[in-house]
Amino acid sequence: MKHIPNGARPSKKAPESDFTGTVWQDAINDAPAPARVRVVKVRFEPGARTAWHTHPFGQTLYCIEGLGLARSEGGPLIELRPGDTIWIPPGEKHWHGASPTTSMTHIAVHETLDGKAADWMEKVSDAEYSAS
Ligand code: MN
Repeated sequence: MKHIPNGARPSKKAPESDFTGTVWQDAINDAPAPARVRVVKVRFEPGARTAWHTHPFGQTLYCIEGLGLARSEGGPLIELRPGDTIWIPPGEKHWHGASPTTSMTHIAVHETLDGKAADWMEKVSDAEYSAS
């Protein structure tokens, strides 16, 4: 059993290449091989969001704070509130983030394929982000 105490892993700022706005990532679990599950707490400041992307084995998002937004390509805009779960199937192009005025924190659970948990695409434009 491995105990990873609070503070042992500093919060990381999400890379500008794959995110818009300020996003903080706190690893909950990076289990060593052969496990490949990744669990991360992600906090998006107001207006912040991911770029468009897919996950090789899909992704579960569980909202724990604030008010968020998420959309799959061609799908409806989903408002995320604390206690809400969304499941994104493998290969489905999507984005997620905070609402324009309110921050949002979710727990993200996904698995890696050859060490990679996401395939990143273009940024979500302001027009895409503000579309209802
Ligand atoms: Mn995702």
